[in-house]
Amino acid sequence: MTTSIVNTAIIGAGQAGLAVSYYLTRHSLDHVVLEQADRPAEAWRNHRWDSFMLNTPRWQSRLPGVQDGRQDPDGFMPRDEIVARLEELARPLPVRHRAHVGEVEHNALGYYVLKLDSGERIRARNVVVATGLYQTPKIPAISAAFPADIKQLHSDSYRNPEQLLPGAVLVVGSAQSGAQIAEDLHESGRKVYLAVSRAGRTPRRYRGKDANWWSAKLGHYDRKVGELPSPKAKFASKPHISGTRGGHTINLHQFARQGIALLGRLEGVEQGVVTLAADLHANLAAADRFEADFTRAIDVYVDATGMAAPPESLPALTDGFAQPTLSKLDLRTADITNVIWATGYAFDFSMIRLPILDEDGYPIQTRGVTAYPGLFFVGLPWPHDAKSGLIYGVGTDAAYIADQIAARQTSETAQLGQANFVSANPLPTIRTTRRRLFNAFASSVLAFILEGFAVHAAELHQAVASSTASCAADTVAEPAESTFSPR
Ligand SMILES: Cc1cc2nc3c(=O)[nH]c(=O)nc-3n(C[C@H](O)[C@H](O)[C@H](O)COP(=O)(O)OP(=O)(O)OC[C@H]3O[C@@H](n4cnc5c(N)ncnc54)[C@H](O)[C@@H]3O)c2cc1C
Repeated sequence: MTTSIVNTAIIGAGQAGLAVSYYLTRHSLDHVVLEQADRPAEAWRNHRWDSFMLNTPRWQSRLPGVQDGRQDPDGFMPRDEIVARLEELARPLPVRHRAHVGEVEHNALGYYVLKLDSGERIRARNVVVATGLYQTPKIPAISAAFPADIKQLHSDSYRNPEQLLPGAVLVVGSAQSGAQIAEDLHESGRKVYLAVSRAGRTPRRYRGKDANWWSAKLGHYDRKVGELPSPKAKFASKPHISGTRGGHTINLHQFARQGIALLGRLEGVEQGVVTLAADLHANLAAADRFEADFTRAIDVYVDATGMAAPPESLPALTDGFAQPTLSKLDLRTADITNVIWATGYAFDFSMIRLPILDEDGYPIQTRGVTAYPGLFFVGLPWPHDAKSGLIYGVGTDAAYIADQIAARQTSETAQLGQANFVSANPLPTIRTTRRRLFNAFASSVLAFILEGFAVHAAELHQAVASSTASCAADTVAEPAESTFSPR
């Protein structure tokens, strides 16, 4: 078993982990990024479908330190381009791939001990957890009751229509992913049934500007987590919108008009017949209301500021309401041979062996900073504000965490220097510069010695612990159960 020491270990090389690494590098702080996949940008590369394009325009999708060569701030990046941008960001950074962190413990000497699957141990003064919230595809238990000849997959592993069996597709869940995948399939000529869930809708453009531009103007992205109506509101689905075809509105009424069959929420399946809730029209009405509230807020803003924005009335589509509210649907009769579960993701931070999770399994922190010195989170939705979980906000959050780590380093070095040298050596004022240099050198030496001591002490502690079969991890509280994060 090898053991190494690093000042800061970052877990995850998605945009959040890489952004923290970028800022730590600018602070010249020693660190490593540990990524379980064999390349960076795993989530975008291997967990989005082929035709996927970012929903956020380019001006909102810039990564720290990466130049976007395209002169198209209002355009949308295809999947492969965001992957390329993340690779560019990762290239000069200290990223280790195929490094899955299984456990993080906090030892008595104030070190975090990261246990890698390979058996390697890494001791770090700081740990930044950047594993995202879209961790494990969530498939409801009722999937087990579907006939065996139906192909089932999660939106996480959907790539393109060719990977499906011939026949119709039932897409379960109509938040951003479900609605976009339903459209992708429909455009390929598939018959699509969409079990509609509750999600809002924003028009892609209104009164001459993109919806996200208006959201920024209206201050939506600056809303702080404390302003949410409840802690669970952090996990609310995002409204329908799309970045494909230069960016366009996704409207379920339009889907109905084009021939996509809209259904209520999927409740169960028995003998190849699915049961459906009677909530289709209520869900459609909720999406309509969301859009009306959004455009009303823009109108009020335009009136209040007097800005020039051409008036616009959006088409009031109602086709979805003409769809029958089915309570049952026979899969065979409908020729449904495929089911795509667009039902969100589960997240789980139990690898951190400390009682840091709230009742939803979400890390307890303020702006990514936990009560445990040196333990940080980046990339969650709403650790701070509405843009934290987006590329748009990750740079600011990452810079903030890197600053915290730098400040911690400075204060630790100062404490060591003060405790051991300043009081013992009250040098005259004329020798201040020499004293500072001496202190800096001496505290580095001391830190080095202490670090070595800490490793040996921790190893000794561990050896004793394992010989008495009482691992330190057993004594800390078990983290709360994981919960689910709908998109
Ligand atoms: C379908 C979809 C569309 C989205 N569209 C947009 C959009 O248009 N614009 C936008 O701004 N945001 C979008 N998001 C939200 C967000 O930007 C992405 O989810 C983004 O991938 C989050 O980045 P991250 O770095 O926080 O996490 P991730 O990208 O998920 O990265 C986490 C990394 O940690 C690694 N990891 C996990 N556990 C371990 C471990 N134990 N040890 C080592 N490594 C580990 C993973 O392999 C992964 O590489 C979208 C999300 C989804 C699901």
